[in-house]
Amino acid sequence: MKPEFSQDTPVQFLKSVGPARARALTRLGIDTVGDLLGHYPRRYFDRSSTVPIRSLRAGQDVTVRGEILTASERRTRTGGSLLTVTLGDDTGVLFCVWFNQKFLLKQFKSGRKMMVSGTVQVHGGRAQVAHPDYEVFEPVTSNEDADPGLHTGRMVPVYGLTSGVGQHWLRGLVHQALEKMSDLHVDPLPAELLAKHRMPDRRRALEAIHFPTDKEELAAARDRLVYEELFTIQILMALRRESRRGMDGVQLGRPGDLTTRLVEGLPFQLTDAQRRVLREILADMRSGQAMHRLLQGDVGSGKTLVALIAALFVIEQGHQALIMAPTEVLARQHGQSLSRLCEPLGIGVETLTGSTPAAIRRSILAGVAAGEIDLLVGTHAVIQEDVRIPRLALAVVDEQHRFGVRQRGKSGSVTEAGGPAHVLVMSATPIPRSLSLTLYGDLELSIIDELPAGRQPITTSIVREKEEAAVWEACRREIVAGRQVYVIYPVIEETEGQDLKAATVEFERLRAEVFSGHSVALLHGRLKAGEKDKVMGSFSRGEVQVLVATTVVEVGVDVPNATAMVIHNPERFGLAQLHQLRGRIGRGRHASHCWLLCDRYLAEESFQRIRFFCEHTDGFALAEEDLRLRGPGDAWGFRQHGAPGFRLANPLRDAKLAHLCRDDARQLLESDPLLKGSAGNIVRLGLNSAFGKFMPLQAG
Ligand code: ADP
Ligand code: MG
Repeated sequence: MKPEFSQDTPVQFLKSVGPARARALTRLGIDTVGDLLGHYPRRYFDRSSTVPIRSLRAGQDVTVRGEILTASERRTRTGGSLLTVTLGDDTGVLFCVWFNQKFLLKQFKSGRKMMVSGTVQVHGGRAQVAHPDYEVFEPVTSNEDADPGLHTGRMVPVYGLTSGVGQHWLRGLVHQALEKMSDLHVDPLPAELLAKHRMPDRRRALEAIHFPTDKEELAAARDRLVYEELFTIQILMALRRESRRGMDGVQLGRPGDLTTRLVEGLPFQLTDAQRRVLREILADMRSGQAMHRLLQGDVGSGKTLVALIAALFVIEQGHQALIMAPTEVLARQHGQSLSRLCEPLGIGVETLTGSTPAAIRRSILAGVAAGEIDLLVGTHAVIQEDVRIPRLALAVVDEQHRFGVRQRGKSGSVTEAGGPAHVLVMSATPIPRSLSLTLYGDLELSIIDELPAGRQPITTSIVREKEEAAVWEACRREIVAGRQVYVIYPVIEETEGQDLKAATVEFERLRAEVFSGHSVALLHGRLKAGEKDKVMGSFSRGEVQVLVATTVVEVGVDVPNATAMVIHNPERFGLAQLHQLRGRIGRGRHASHCWLLCDRYLAEESFQRIRFFCEHTDGFALAEEDLRLRGPGDAWGFRQHGAPGFRLANPLRDAKLAHLCRDDARQLLESDPLLKGSAGNIVRLGLNSAFGKFMPLQAG
């Protein structure tokens, strides 16, 4: 009998794969034919059209064909290596450069033909591409026009490689695998869905993603494969959601007196968005089923207040609530501001953190157990087994993503009655909706998409070190006007070999020179909790004018009177982090300013990131850019946590598809919750083969 080729056939069964090549392929994560076909091209050379060098313009994404004129390597001032290849065609010369990739040099023999793809930069009138995708033609195929096969005259796939695996060889191997697969390929998407969205079947899609005849075919194939990834993840999430459905939660009645009194006593009106999400939350808690809801809202959008109102709602009906924060500073700040709001209502609030003295901890725990304390605020670390909250009905988890996706399962506390408490997860790092559908697809979603009225805009500018004096001058003017200032550093202490400005050292200089005569304080992660509290307390009371800090102030700190922030070495921070930092200002009635102080030449990519930050204040836009720059895997640690990752899907670009998938997955499960029907069965088989090792589906 002829061996059958399936997804699971080891790649060694393909021609030209010996043990050494098989080992090399393993380094790319390729062991089976299925892995090989799932090693999608990183990009394509559109060899149906190349561009003459003379016509190149900055910013264009192009493919150029030419001959290698020179190839050389030299050391840079900073001790790195710079590899430069000049490529000529009939119209001009293109410079191709690589940093610290010396080992590439030997492939670039002058006289050889080469094709490069990349984004054009123009420096001093000369066209350049940095780290382009490239292909050097072997002398055998240098007469490439005579090779009509896979490598020229068409859209050509460009794969990620490793040593021992060449572009041409891998291309041939993928082609061979596609031929051998014939029609034995199982399609994990039911025919009804394919028909509904007019998508190609899996085999056609795989052929087209590797060897597309044109852009349209490629786009259709890509959509189909992306759909498959997102759909299967949606099914998994929906199954998780389903498995929780029907778990009884504490059923609550109508909102009562306390919530009304709190809202009426506020010096401002709730925003429409706050009202809307509160309605969603209340509806959940009155449904009789346990709530699992993600509340997203940009920095300063008023999530804490929403949490408090939700808590009061359970408290006024005789239950208890818990609010968890990711850091001590934040837990204490929440504790203080919530106590202030709750006191006039006669509600007992206590705060518990890792540094709460043992005796106080014991008395708080006793108070909670006796039901005298209605609202417990704390860090995640201390709310552990020995904490008994007999009438717990609501657990709010602030800044959940900081705890990591993995811990998510644990934060659902169980009430004394045995049922799960309602869980409200709050996130201020705006996760693009498309991504949250996948990351948090098992949670219901509420979004506060509106900031309280009357907020003043924050302007942001990049300043060089030599302009520092002007920045300090502007800060002093704010102080004189009665406002407060944050100065942020990337590190606490200076370390050898790293010339980053450090908070502790700069603090001395700022206090003695720049802000002499004003009160300056230092806040960083290594201070004892008590000291942190003292510092934060005096800053929020306005006794300290300048707070010199590291990213401890990143999350949640709320001092509306602070109107200026200076961030040193902004290139050291990601966009999401910068956004969190800047969110500490612009919270009050006065206009705010943020200065990004750069003391070095920034790499192009860093500079672009920082400029993007200057131009955007919308957290969702920033998060999307962050995701675009770093990709979903890296930014959110999704893969690390053992959940299925995205190979092709980019939840940003594919937001529309993500929606479709979610609806389709829901529909399928509504009509066939156990995946037993003909369509369901196909999906179940597909899920098991794709994700069985991650999340085995229980039978039946
Ligand atoms: P988040 O946690 O979403 O970053 P906060 O809950 O800390 O935001 O709220 C930021 C500030 O806005 C707080 O000082 C809060 O009292 C205030 N605030 C909340 N809701 C409103 C509103 N509707 N109108 C005006 N200010 C509000
Ligand atoms: Mg907050």
